[in-house]
Amino acid sequence: MDILDHDRIPLHHETDVLVLGGGSAGCSAALAARMSGAASVTLVERAGFPGGISTQALDTFYGFFTPGDEPRKVAGGIGDRVVDALDAVGAIFLRPNTYGAGTGVNYNPERLKLVWDELLNEAGVRTLLHTHLVDVEGSADSPEAVVVWSKAGFSRIRARVFIDATGDADFCHRSGIACETAGEKEPAQTMTTTFRMANVDLEAYRQAGGKQMLMKEMARAVDEGVHPLPRKEGSVHRMNVPGCISTVAVRVAGFCATDPEDLTAAEQEGRRQAFIYEAFLRDRVVGFAESRIIGLSSSIGVRESRRLEGRYRLTRGDCLGRATFDDKVLVCGAPIEDHRRSEGGGEETHWAYIPDNGVYEVPYRCFLPKENARTLVAGRCFSATHDAHASCRSMAQTMAMGHACGAAAALSLEDDVALPDLSMPRLQDLLRRQGAVLEMPESVADIRPDGWAGNQSTPTIP
Ligand SMILES: Cc1cc2nc3c(=O)[nH]c(=O)nc-3n(C[C@H](O)[C@H](O)[C@H](O)COP(=O)(O)OP(=O)(O)OC[C@H]3O[C@@H](n4cnc5c(N)ncnc54)[C@H](O)[C@@H]3O)c2cc1C
Repeated sequence: MDILDHDRIPLHHETDVLVLGGGSAGCSAALAARMSGAASVTLVERAGFPGGISTQALDTFYGFFTPGDEPRKVAGGIGDRVVDALDAVGAIFLRPNTYGAGTGVNYNPERLKLVWDELLNEAGVRTLLHTHLVDVEGSADSPEAVVVWSKAGFSRIRARVFIDATGDADFCHRSGIACETAGEKEPAQTMTTTFRMANVDLEAYRQAGGKQMLMKEMARAVDEGVHPLPRKEGSVHRMNVPGCISTVAVRVAGFCATDPEDLTAAEQEGRRQAFIYEAFLRDRVVGFAESRIIGLSSSIGVRESRRLEGRYRLTRGDCLGRATFDDKVLVCGAPIEDHRRSEGGGEETHWAYIPDNGVYEVPYRCFLPKENARTLVAGRCFSATHDAHASCRSMAQTMAMGHACGAAAALSLEDDVALPDLSMPRLQDLLRRQGAVLEMPESVADIRPDGWAGNQSTPTIP
């Protein structure tokens, strides 16, 4: 969009593949690009650590397994590599069939920061933390370079392929590539400040009824008006650290995640609610009397903001119709899980399941902008409607999106073809060889709460 005088900004370096945003999608894209042969890959991340929401706010990967009594493992590749690395240091456990979304892989988020660091370094990715994308040089149909800002000032990075994995589609927005803003067409999903508490007596909590007791107490507290909780639901689950729990309970609605004043208000409201929950838990829930908050998510969790309007837009019909596509690059079996404000001003979660615990396929075109042939868009800003996004946003899928986009970027350079003209059988074959899952497995997944049997064919990172 050229808001800055680019002629006066020094060139920092040139790279083959430039990944913008180091969340679960961006880290996976950078790893996959190197793993698939790209000679130089740069990852730009504004925070001081990689992982995005996976390390800022959360501790459970969903989307690896389909829900139901006969779960299938429907994601692998880079995602497996990440879970294997966590498993090797005892930093995971499996939570069978939690909240109807299928088995979750619980991990230690602080350890995950280190795992992402190590994988990126081993793979030879040039990572720039504390570095913000602020502008794009060129136009929507011909991006040439980005302008980044860090404590060293402004600088430019030129690239042959750009992967926008900023979650908020910042690269697309700045270059003029068409995006939809959450809330424009359907109500945007709410935001959540997650928090962690220590010194919880989990055995007493379990014996007193666990989740069922919690739900009853929440409803009672809301009805009595003693603790002004924003809603009667919320996930409280044990962490990878003894005596600690983490939550997805706070709900902040009605703010725009790309407006700084709104985002400030949302952060403040999220913190305010977290301590209302703390007071409620200590007061009303068995096992919590001596507990305290020990950490809030470092940023409020944003479920949706901007999304690409790409060459294909995944729809609710695709999810619930178990759609198939010739250019599939991943599959998803996660239900539509839509957190929104109810008409009465409260909070509800709408669920819709993929029929027969099946999967739908996600086409490569969901990651391709219409405007140019040198950009891919991975992760939660991919091209989908509000509903389809609410199903396909789990981290096993955002890692699979990053994997597919990184591999596609490397192949397009190797074959010297534009991204939209890439041979799909060739890309799909490469992804399968790297352990990605592109079709529903026949065998039921081997799920053991304290084990991980995900690494049928873990990819090698050079
Ligand atoms: C509250 C909440 C609960 C959720 N619960 C679960 C769950 O339990 N399990 C699950 O699997 N999924 C869950 N999800 C969904 C899932 O976490 C996200 O969809 C997924 O993590 C998105 O990954 P991403 O890499 O696309 O985006 P992000 O994780 O948002 O990563 C984007 C990255 O880009 C960086 N960035 C942004 N703008 C710039 C810029 N201009 N310059 C440089 N860097 C930039 C950010 O700092 C960030 O690191 C939840 C989401 C939320 C918000």
